[in-house]
Amino acid sequence: MTDSPYWNPRHETMARKDVEALQVRKLRNLVEWADSQVPWQAKRLRDAGVTADQIRSLDDLQRIPIMTRDDWMQGQVEEPPFGSNVAVPRESAIRYHMTSGTTGKTPIRVLDGMKDWEWIAEMWCYGLWGFGVRPRDVLFVAFGYSTFIGFWGLHYAGEKLGCLTLPGGAMATDQRVKQIVDMGATVVASTPTYALRMAQEARALGIDLAGSSVQRLILSGEPAGSIPATKKLIQEEGGARAGDTAGMTELGTIMIFECGEQPGGTHIIEDNYIEEVLDPESDRPVAHGEMGERVVTSFGRGFIPVMRYRTRDLVVKVPGMSCRCGRTWDLYEGGIRGRVDDMKLVRGTNVYPRAVEAIVREHPEIDEFQIHLYTAEGRRDEIEILVEIPDQEADAGGITARLEKELADAHEALRFGVKQVDLGTLPRFELKAKRLVDDRIVIGTEGERRAQA
Ligand SMILES: [Zn+2]
Repeated sequence: MTDSPYWNPRHETMARKDVEALQVRKLRNLVEWADSQVPWQAKRLRDAGVTADQIRSLDDLQRIPIMTRDDWMQGQVEEPPFGSNVAVPRESAIRYHMTSGTTGKTPIRVLDGMKDWEWIAEMWCYGLWGFGVRPRDVLFVAFGYSTFIGFWGLHYAGEKLGCLTLPGGAMATDQRVKQIVDMGATVVASTPTYALRMAQEARALGIDLAGSSVQRLILSGEPAGSIPATKKLIQEEGGARAGDTAGMTELGTIMIFECGEQPGGTHIIEDNYIEEVLDPESDRPVAHGEMGERVVTSFGRGFIPVMRYRTRDLVVKVPGMSCRCGRTWDLYEGGIRGRVDDMKLVRGTNVYPRAVEAIVREHPEIDEFQIHLYTAEGRRDEIEILVEIPDQEADAGGITARLEKELADAHEALRFGVKQVDLGTLPRFELKAKRLVDDRIVIGTEGERRAQA
């Protein structure tokens, strides 16, 4: 195999008009498939007056109804356990996976057939290859293999590429760190949070992870892989380059990845997805460079047609040509920016957890933190940042004071209380970190609260 920077050179460098023509053709097939195999989808398409032969350009996408997580759940409630959006008899399924359930919501259940599983690995191959992973690599997967999809697809992509692939399931963090070093792993896959956790553990064990054979870290599962300060910290502590990716359970795999040029964003795998960016209020498309909500259409799913699925992820799309790698596929600048529902209104000021994290991570002395919202004196919203600073020699008072000022400067002078807490007080995360705790008492209506604020 030649050492092309692309997994699929023809598709990754296709002229934009050809990318779009390919998407239109695949979209037509998808509509036809959903219409003929899923009565629930067929009814929605009929109600919207959409038929496959009417799909002639990407503008026709707008006529297809948007699907929400609630729609998906409703199908599961009506036709338990797998729901009414399955297009293939259950006998053809070979695997089952579901959402992690960290949000406390009922998990989404997904069936996969042979085609899904092949495709899931293929999507990860785009990402791994694009970030420079090659057959000679030794890939360690720091992930608890379970019904949560997580890095399953990456595991199979590693095998497909020809890497020596080490499944790091059912291991404590110290065991994982030792195995990474003992086996000479050159690539490690984990969440951003867990990459930092392994670095801390290595330090505690007296292991020099930065000096080990690890050259690349493949991050997924949390938006932090594209927060510059967090990424810088992960790269320094791990002594390796960190490449961001993002996927979702409903798709079973990734839809974006960072290429070797690391342009500060992630390429969209546009031969397999249409990623729309819409205003979350009006559902109208926003222009390149503007923030909006991702709405995904997937061409690879073999069991469930995913058409215009509303993700709640916030993104900013920019043209692929802004990256030097030669891919024509558009980018999400800064990766996934957060969730539509993440934004908190505190005394009239918008607070995004991602923006807070970006500021906190400028202080490498802080190893874990939490954003805590609460109601003071029964009526006033307050925000505090709880931090753990393990180094006894560090100037904790100075750090918290500086952080308080930086946070206020970035938030219209909103007062943040920054408090140091005892080591080990804050929860540690392996999968999806949840660092925002909202303990506010809801008083009156949203309008009254806004008026008070
Ligand atoms: Zn690129």
